[in-house]
Amino acid sequence: MQNTTSSMQDTVALSIDGSHLLERLIELGSIGRNEAGSLTRLAGSDQDKQGRDRLVSWLQDAELTVSVDVVGNIFGTWEADAQRRPLMVGSHIDTVIDAGIYDGCYGVLSGLAAVEALKLLGYVPLRPIVIAAFTNEEGVRYQPDMLGSLAFVGGLDLSTALGAAGTDGTVLGNELIRIGYKGSQALGAVRPAAYLELHIEQGPVLEAEDFSIGAVEVVQGISWQKIVIDGVANHAGTTPISHRHDAGYAAARIVSFLREYAFHAKKPSVATVGTMQFEPGAINIIPAKVTFTVDLRDPDEIRLRDFEFALDRFIQKIAAEEQVTIKAERLARFDPVSFDQTVVSVIEAAAAKREKSCRRMTSGAGHDAQMLARICPAAMIFVPSRNGISHNPLEFTEPEQLIAGANVLLDSMLSLLR
Ligand SMILES: [Zn+2]
Repeated sequence: MQNTTSSMQDTVALSIDGSHLLERLIELGSIGRNEAGSLTRLAGSDQDKQGRDRLVSWLQDAELTVSVDVVGNIFGTWEADAQRRPLMVGSHIDTVIDAGIYDGCYGVLSGLAAVEALKLLGYVPLRPIVIAAFTNEEGVRYQPDMLGSLAFVGGLDLSTALGAAGTDGTVLGNELIRIGYKGSQALGAVRPAAYLELHIEQGPVLEAEDFSIGAVEVVQGISWQKIVIDGVANHAGTTPISHRHDAGYAAARIVSFLREYAFHAKKPSVATVGTMQFEPGAINIIPAKVTFTVDLRDPDEIRLRDFEFALDRFIQKIAAEEQVTIKAERLARFDPVSFDQTVVSVIEAAAAKREKSCRRMTSGAGHDAQMLARICPAAMIFVPSRNGISHNPLEFTEPEQLIAGANVLLDSMLSLLR
């Protein structure tokens, strides 16, 4: 059987059904739209349930065995020699608020399309193939992001994962029960031999440099902090500058510091202050309190740590100068992840075989694959994002690029299955 299988692979030009993949992306992307047409499927929501139901029906149509684990991760398994560890292919189907249709869904549905192409051919896998959709990758409703895959690999204990408190006051575990997706399968019951994730780039590099495929070898590290500055509220007109303990001014200095540090480092370091609240928040009162978030990223762990130390030193300096109290609380911290070089090479070879231009690259965003890399060889395939836009309804990748990426996934899967 093995010989028949491998000779079939070499002689038949096997491809996924591209139009079927595109139709499904649009269909899944139609689930969770409000009256204004905006797409939102937050983890554990009614809309998430509808999306999950549709995915499960497609997995079942492909005669995959569907299982759901205790944090709601969905697996569709093509059963084969149970003595061998499976090849896992996946991503997520939860979305951000007012999302595009490709982020996450593209990877899950392409994995399914690859399995369907293999089944159509009469392929007999030598090891099981698992299509995975991980819970709460986006982290919009529940923290941390990539929660399902993190719990799956043992990086987050079950009670913490299920106890995650939502931005809307809900608890993830209760919501999973409510929508019927708190499964019974133990975390990590499936131990993959390797993991592949196909995803839109969500950045401008492939398009700008005219590459069709990215073979992702590094995911940059992420450091999230919440910073609270306590100053003294006082009259905006009567308080001389030298007498102020202005939390707003201190916050502004920190925002400027972050930009200047990242700029002058002339490294890939990036820093973002994405939220900020002033209290009491009046035009004629010196701010007593400012709360804001800091997002630092870098592909190199030492540089990321240097950035964190530099921020910490600057916070101490500005607290002393302005005589305010500044507290920093860590919200999330993921080290940079290097993917498996063999799997990255497999992706490069698959792209070359399809005559698709390919470059190695770093992922600026976090992905489930970085969690899976803790327990098995893993890597990611990127396709271009038009204008580098994602987490936005304008997210777009050309249909032929989507299909090419799915075929590179298919060929990479075949290589890893051998
Ligand atoms: Zn994603």
